[in-house]
Formats: sequence, structure tokens, C-alpha cells
Amino acid sequence: MSRRRLVYEGKAKNLYEGPEPGTLVQYFKDDATAFNKQKHAIVDGKGVLNNRISEFLMTQLNAIGIRTHFIRRINMREQLIRAVEIIPLEVVVRNVAAGSLVKKLGLTQGEALPRPIVEFYYKDDKLGDPMVSEEHIAAFNWAGQQDMDDMISMALRVNDFLSGLFMGVGLKLVDFKIEFGHIWDGDTQVVLLADEISPDSMRLWDVKSGRKLDKDVFRENLGDLVEAYAEVARRLGVMPENVSAGDDEGGPKLVH
Ligand code: UDP
Repeated sequence: MSRRRLVYEGKAKNLYEGPEPGTLVQYFKDDATAFNKQKHAIVDGKGVLNNRISEFLMTQLNAIGIRTHFIRRINMREQLIRAVEIIPLEVVVRNVAAGSLVKKLGLTQGEALPRPIVEFYYKDDKLGDPMVSEEHIAAFNWAGQQDMDDMISMALRVNDFLSGLFMGVGLKLVDFKIEFGHIWDGDTQVVLLADEISPDSMRLWDVKSGRKLDKDVFRENLGDLVEAYAEVARRLGVMPENVSAGDDEGGPKLVH
């Protein structure tokens, strides 16, 4: 029996060789990590929920013309994606003060920011993913000027779209992290949204109660992580049947 080749092992996902050249299979694990892997747990069902949520969000973004690596979901834990050359940067967009920004600038958690703020972090676990400026990115050639312009404008479009989408289901998009990759389209290099978009990489607060429905539940020991992610999936109308209860079917549910 032949085994498929593991191309990359990450903290929350593995990548396997895909069925055709230029494709990969992205497998969502149940591992939860925080504080640069100092905190780790297996959270049953998290991978299934993130696979669904990320599929839904990537599909919605594709539909408004934002190019992503997503091709289709294969099963409960796997999706087929385009193989891209990952740009070694994490792009964070913030709408509301939380997390490291609060610590760094002495802001109050929950304070609305005067405008969305885009930040870059250099992907290097050994260095703890340091924040970097466009000057660093240009000097060390981690991305070109055109890539940087594309990443910023795509990140802000993703933010506008997702802020509205989540607000429609009673959730505030506080901040999120996305990653990008390159592919060749003929002779031109194109930037695609890659990785995942899930409650592992964003902050989502319930508009009415302020309840956190994202990885901070794990970081801050606030309760059942899968229950929180399942609530996000339920509101988006993508709750997988065998994770837990939920009789909803299809499409986001508007919250008034
Ligand atoms: N984030 C992430 N991966 C990281 C660092 C941050 O997905 O390695 C997300 C995080 O969940 C939050 C946003 O990026 O939605 C901003 O994170 P922040 O800089 O506040 O860092 P944190 O306080 O989460 O360490």
C-alpha cells in the first residue's frame, strides 16, 4: 500500500501531496497551541470546525473576486488547495484594540481603533514571529513592493467583507491574521490568499454579550473551545452534523 507524502507538518495543519501537480491536500488537526507552542492541547473536533469555517470564508471571498488557494473541501478534515510559495509574513488587520497591541501601546481592550491597522510579522518560530516594517521586508526581500501593495489592499478588502459578514450574525471582528502565497499565472506572478481563516487566527466577540468565540477561549482558559467554534459555525450556517447538536441548515443566520 502506498502512503501519500507529507509535505509540511504545522502546528494545526498538515500538508500532503495533492492528486495533481500544483495541488496539495490541507489536513486540519485537533491540536491547539498558544504562546509559541508553550501551551498545547488536543481539542476534539476543532479541526473539523476549522475546515468548514475556512472553506466557507474562503469561498465567500473567492466570490467577491479575492483570489485564494482554496479549490474544494474533500472531507471532514481535508481540503484541496493550490500549491503556493508562501510569503514568510503574517499579515494582521485590527479594528479594535486587543492582544499584543493593548500591551504594546497601553490601550484599553475593546477600544475601537481610529482606522483599520495593518501589521506585518516575520514568520519565524525561533524568533517568536517578530513584528517588522515594510523597510525590513524590502531590505531582506521577503516580498516585493508590488506584493506588499497587493497584500495590504487584499487584507483591507478581506477585513471590510468579513467585518460585515460577521456583524450580520452578531459577531464583532476584532482582529485577524492571514497569510499569502505566490503562484505563476503564465509569465506573471500572482498573490493569493493562503493558509486558513478560522477562529484560530481571529478574534470574534459576541456583539451583545461580549463573549469571546475564538482562540482566546483556549489562551485564557475561558471554557469549552469547541463549543465556542461550534457557535461561530452555527451562526454562519455551516455547522457540521457530527460535531455536536445543531439542526440549522445552510447559510448565515441574520442576527437583529
Ligand atoms: N494571530 C495568529 N497567529 C499568530 C499571532 C497572532 O493567528 O501567530 C492572530 C490572533 O489570533 C489575533 C491577531 O492575529 O486574532 C492579532 O494577534 P496579536 O498580535 O494580538 O497577538 P496575540 O495577543 O494573539 O499573541
